[in-house]
Amino acid sequence: MTKNKSVAKKDTVYNTYKCRWCEKEKRESGFYRCSITNKSFICKNCIDHKFDELILKYDYNRAIFIVCHYLDIAYYEDIAKVVENENIGYYIRQLNLIQNTIDNFETSIIKNKSVEFTPPDYKYTETKHRLGAIIEEIEQLRDLF
Ligand SMILES: [Zn+2]
Repeated sequence: MTKNKSVAKKDTVYNTYKCRWCEKEKRESGFYRCSITNKSFICKNCIDHKFDELILKYDYNRAIFIVCHYLDIAYYEDIAKVVENENIGYYIRQLNLIQNTIDNFETSIIKNKSVEFTPPDYKYTETKHRLGAIIEEIEQLRDLF
């Protein structure tokens, strides 16, 4: 009787991407998904930082507009208006609610700056927001191991 004791230890393979701003090699969780999908490859840290800088100098809409341009994701004024004063991650989450694959910047400008966007129930958004924050924390913790 042969005992098959060896259980192949599966190495988890993580896709990594190089941020084109800080040039750090990071796992997917270090990027907003749309940044990878739309091939802008700017990590969360860099884009959050940029957004914080912009918001000090300009109004919210303009800051979102500029960041959308860098990330090459859709800029929709309707959404920006609704989520006013939230961070860029929140804006992206709202975009994701209406688009599975987020339009790139150019497409959004050609289409129109506005979309049919009905703000979801506030409580629901708030819960989603908190859940999103928890997920991000877990992802960051996972990156440590
Ligand atoms: Zn970076």
